[in-house]
Amino acid sequence: MIPVDQALAQVLAGISQLSAEEVGVSDSLGRVLAQDVASRITQPRSDVSAMDGYAVRASDVASVPATLTQIGESTAGGAFGGSVGEGQTVRIFTGAPVPPGADAIVIQEDTERDGDQITMGEAASLGHFIRPAGLDFKESDVLIPKGRLMSARDVSLAAAMNIPWLRVTCRPRIAILSTGNELVLPGEPMTQYQIVSSNSLGLAAFVQAMGGVPINLGIARDEPDELRAFLEGVAGADMLVTIGGASVGDYDLVKSVLGGEGLDITFSKVAMRPGKPLIFGKLGEKPMLGLPGNPVSAGVTALLFLLPAMKAMLGREDLGRAPESAALGVGLGANGERQDYMRAGLSADADGRLTATPFNEQDSSMLMLFAKADCLIIRPIGAPAAKEGEQVPILRLDQGSISV
Ligand code: AMP
Ligand code: MG
Repeated sequence: MIPVDQALAQVLAGISQLSAEEVGVSDSLGRVLAQDVASRITQPRSDVSAMDGYAVRASDVASVPATLTQIGESTAGGAFGGSVGEGQTVRIFTGAPVPPGADAIVIQEDTERDGDQITMGEAASLGHFIRPAGLDFKESDVLIPKGRLMSARDVSLAAAMNIPWLRVTCRPRIAILSTGNELVLPGEPMTQYQIVSSNSLGLAAFVQAMGGVPINLGIARDEPDELRAFLEGVAGADMLVTIGGASVGDYDLVKSVLGGEGLDITFSKVAMRPGKPLIFGKLGEKPMLGLPGNPVSAGVTALLFLLPAMKAMLGREDLGRAPESAALGVGLGANGERQDYMRAGLSADADGRLTATPFNEQDSSMLMLFAKADCLIIRPIGAPAAKEGEQVPILRLDQGSISV
């Protein structure tokens, strides 16, 4: 049995970054950049007005009221052909190029029009309401770094940089194989003694939400030959994740069958609760993670091991998540020889101070409480008893996001 940190380090040591592909900028949301992205243009490309109003020479409106003659207009996307001389002004709109000669904008609200005679009621200093060329960014500036998970704002920025294509890391293809004679798919007829393979669907959703491509291989009965036969489906995947059959029961075949097929096992037991029977190894070059079957164990180990493994495949820098801290809602006894991840509710007081209260039931089969939990309270190996109000590390399970 090895500690969680050591197990994670061994998993990450066995994972390589995937190759890259080109995607259109409009398909780049949620993808991870495989290289730095430099702007193809300067933004704005020329000096433009920040407001609707009049382009003037600041020296003409040093004392107001001042009446100037309008000689034309400059619109967004167009431009005024001439230049602004002494005593002259050009009607201008937000985002429109500032014509040569003009060096300030008087906003429309501060003017009065009489035919082509425009009276400025407010003085404008040099450069007032003008966005100089390159205010936002300049050509060749690297604005989105390699390793970045593209957000909607990044998509907008990349588009503004006039980038039609982006080089991103390929999505990790994760083959998911459930094991167990008792499993059926949702909607299938089932006997009193069967259960629905909830893990495989939840895990596929998790993989998808984390930017991967889940490939559900199906359910292998607890038969060596059948389990072996299912392995053929792994060929096209970047990683194999099995569910169940990882423990020491007579029908827990994953280690022995995959071992017979050449699985090089790095570890098969981790000092954690839930999730002790957790396997990591390599089938040839392919990483394999054997998750425990109990739904909460599978969910928690996916969060702690599969997610960082996928991030490493994607070339993301933020492999681990630093725990936050919260006050305990109830006292807890001393912890034993496994790091505990307790399902808990989270509340915040008026000042935003967090309190985490573990659920009374912590059985690793209880999906309802896992789905309801706001966070996991981490109890390190050998942690002494903790009093109510004591600060403890937590990992949030955000309800507002589809991620975990
Ligand atoms: P195992 O590790 O195969 O002994 O499974 C431990 C427990 O998890 C058993 O109660 C299984 O029925 C349950 N289990 C295994 N696989 C799944 C699955 N795909 N979905 C839901 N429960 C599962
Ligand atoms: Mg089983």
